[in-house]
Amino acid sequence: MSVPTIQSKLPNIGETIFTVMSSLAVEYKAINLGQGFPDYPMSDELISLVNFHMKKGHNQYVHMNGLPLLRKVIAEKVCRLYKQQIDPEEEITVTPGGTYAIYTALTTVLKPGDEVIVFEPAYDSYIPNIEINGAVPILIPLTLPDYKIDWVEVKKQITPKTRMIMLNSPHNPTGSVLRPEDLAKLEELVIETNIFIVSDEVYEHLIFDGIQHESILKYPELYKRSFVCFSFGKVFHCTGWKLGYCIAPPALMKEFRKVHQFNCFSCNSPMQFAVADFLREEESYNSVGIFLQKKRDLFLHLMQQTRFKPIPSHGSYFQLYSFSELSDESERDLAIRLTKDYGVATIPTSAFYKNSKDDKVLRFCFAKKDETLEEAVNRLNKL
Ligand code: PMP
Ligand code: GLN
Repeated sequence: MSVPTIQSKLPNIGETIFTVMSSLAVEYKAINLGQGFPDYPMSDELISLVNFHMKKGHNQYVHMNGLPLLRKVIAEKVCRLYKQQIDPEEEITVTPGGTYAIYTALTTVLKPGDEVIVFEPAYDSYIPNIEINGAVPILIPLTLPDYKIDWVEVKKQITPKTRMIMLNSPHNPTGSVLRPEDLAKLEELVIETNIFIVSDEVYEHLIFDGIQHESILKYPELYKRSFVCFSFGKVFHCTGWKLGYCIAPPALMKEFRKVHQFNCFSCNSPMQFAVADFLREEESYNSVGIFLQKKRDLFLHLMQQTRFKPIPSHGSYFQLYSFSELSDESERDLAIRLTKDYGVATIPTSAFYKNSKDDKVLRFCFAKKDETLEEAVNRLNKL
């Protein structure tokens, strides 16, 4: 009997850094400031709502595009926040998380040889998602020190093969945010082209310092060509729920759903019922930014005791720190040493670059209980 040999579709891809560092954190009983997830409890009310709906018998498949009531509530929220009318029947699909929404959007559009503009550092799923579709990532570095998009460079990199541009604001891992002038530049560049946009807005509500989130949904000309992706895991502090959604204009969403229906078909139903009830109340998401800003500020304050140098973060779960004055080790080596010897796990930002660029910067997740942050900094202070 012969056994077939598998030809990898992603030959250069190893295990994601989030799993690598979380496994190491478990092995060495380290405080995990690596992978982005909260260690504080999520809302009791939301948990009770899931329980309520399970007991009520909401345990069978819901519509493949998402529970109609949930889509209606999402459309109302978009109207309230971004002053846009979205048709819940034709423009919203509920997905098992934001990552899936992004992958589906890319798979819906991309053909082999298409080019996709990606800004680096980039969330680690983007490039493999592009490559598995036979498309080519065109990598443009965000400009230091504040990780901004260089629109002159973007203009230079646009070719007849450019099919998509990927955006992420608030940004993982840097915490930078897009401003109205960025969206204006983007509009100027794409308006006369066939370029689509995937906008990763999973940190929509995790934005600080009084800055408004510039959703693509606020810009009708951009929205016409966009897939806008969200995650309830981030908004409601329940990353393990893996529930999100994609918003796109009807013609784009029609194609998105063709890919979605034979992959996931429909998402977890009791959670959709519960989220639909919970999301109706503005307080369910309004205070998330303020709550996390306090965490960021506490962490920044505590870390002043150490020799790590902060790089400003205006959103997301994350704060970058430079360690160039502390050590000349690689980011990966220091992240491993901190986990094993000091009991604090972080993420080397080189994991967000295709060529593993090493700027001597580590990413810390501050979505943790105050006492977790205090203990982590006590440990880091020994370095
Ligand atoms: N995009 C970014 C930038 C993220 O940090 C995450 C977090 N995992 C996701 C997408 C995916 O979210 P989800 O867990 O809902 O798939
Ligand atoms: N988004 C999370 C982070 O950046 C991790 C999600 C994952 O493990 N895939 O840490």
